[in-house]
Parts: sequence; structure tokens; C-alpha cells
Amino acid sequence: MTTIAAALRECRAALSKAGSDEARAEARLIIMTATGLDEAGLIVHDCDEMSKDALARAKDATGKRAEGIPLAYVLGFRDFFGLRLAVSPAVLIPRNETEILVEQALSAPFATACDLGTGSGAVILAIKSSRPKAQCWACDLSEEALEVARANARALGLEVSFVRSSWLLSDEFSGMRFDLIVSNPPYIEEGDPHLARTSLPCEPRMALTSGRDGLDDIRAIAAQAPSHLNKGGRLLLEHGFDQGERVRGILRKAGFSDVRTARDLEGRERVTSGAMPQAD
Ligand code: GLN
Repeated sequence: MTTIAAALRECRAALSKAGSDEARAEARLIIMTATGLDEAGLIVHDCDEMSKDALARAKDATGKRAEGIPLAYVLGFRDFFGLRLAVSPAVLIPRNETEILVEQALSAPFATACDLGTGSGAVILAIKSSRPKAQCWACDLSEEALEVARANARALGLEVSFVRSSWLLSDEFSGMRFDLIVSNPPYIEEGDPHLARTSLPCEPRMALTSGRDGLDDIRAIAAQAPSHLNKGGRLLLEHGFDQGERVRGILRKAGFSDVRTARDLEGRERVTSGAMPQAD
């Protein structure tokens, strides 16, 4: 017989051998998903026998992960801001550091919000779940991504209007103004060697790269956002750790005031925001 503790050990060893640097956490998630147990359950039941079915599910997931498929794609979900989100290779895997974007969005009042390049819907669904009265929109250029986001909204019972659009260019947005525009756009430089590492090779390239300096999409969003924001409305953009100064410059040039950058838990510049001036 194989106990849960033994299955956990085997899974962890296989993932370590395959080069995962998060083998312990990933093995726990695989065994929890295979057995339906939570963190506490894993400890309480560690001497129990794994059922045949659970063992087969765990082996299958471990094998795929060991082949290099990101765990979120193997399991089909990722937890973000307390929400369990379905993900597929059509969408970027939500990152922990993107919770900073959500926290910054929630740090001031707003009645209407729009998320540009929503992917799985992670950012707008986290915002809507924390501010149920806000009216929320989100767009993506990828119809496949929008299907994932719509399914997540339905599963979580959260009402968001999804629009197929390249940033704010769709007719559906014409004449619309929001209190808050947020985006985790693509911002990696086209030749960045990181693109060959971690989960990045498996993720949609259109969600990752943005021209030679990684800032093409941030420039486009900064140019389009002012005519879609109310006075005093805010734009919040996630960006790379070394792009803060350039993004602040782009926002100031586009007419934003009160331009500032929030850092992630490791102290790196991560989210830059600007406000539309109150007076003309
Ligand atoms: N933060 C992601 C990474 O570097 C990139 C996400 C993005 O381009 N928006 O792994």
C-alpha cells in the first residue's frame, strides 16, 4: 500500500529530480488535488492509504509536471487573491506579485473599473469580489482568453462585462469613461533570455512580450487611457522591476499627475499609477 505521506515523498523526489525549485509546494498541491484533501487534511491523514484513483491522478500530474508543463496548466487552476481560477495555455498564469496591482486598485474608492488584457480574469475578478458594488469591465484581444475569463466569472458568481478589444480601441468602449483602469500588460523585452525559462515558454507570447524595450503596450495604454478616465480617475500598470522610471515618464508625458510606483514584497518597483487631473 502507498500512504499519503509516501506518495507525497515520491512526488516531491520526482519533481526535484526533474529540476523544479518548488518541488515541496508543488508536490503538496498535486497530492491535495488528487485526494481532495486540504493542507490540514494532508497532515491528519498522512498515514492513510491513497486510493488507487488518487494515486493514478497524482502520478499523471507528477509526470506532466516533470516533463516541464507548468503546474497551473497541469492541474487546470491557480489560486489568486483567495479565488480559485481555471487556467489553460490560452492565458497567462496569474502571479503572486500581481496581487500588488489588485491591492493598489483597492486602495482608493471607485464606482467603475476596467481591466485591459484580462487573460484568466484574475485582476478584475479579484477587484469585483472585493468591491461587489463596483461596475466592472474587462477586455482581451484573445477570444480564447475571454472564454476562460467568462467561465471563471460564472463559476465565482461575479458579474463583469467582457469585451473583445485591443486595449481601449473597440467601438464598445467609445465614449465610455471609468474611475479606474488597471492592466498587467505584456512588458518583457522581445529578446529577453528569461523567455526560455520557468513557465514562460509555455505561456501565450502575446501576453508576455511587447517590442524591443518591452514598453510598446504600456505606451499604447497610456495614450488611450486619458480619454476613457473620469477626472481624478486612476490608471494602474504592472511592469518589470527595472521599468519604473521609464513608465513614470510615459505616464507624465501622457498628462497624468500624482504619478507613483508601488514596490512588491521583495522591494522591487512593480506597479506605477497616475491620476487624471481634477481641473481642466
Ligand atoms: N511577471 C511576468 C514574468 O516575468 C510577466 C507578466 C507580463 O508580461 N505581464 O514572469
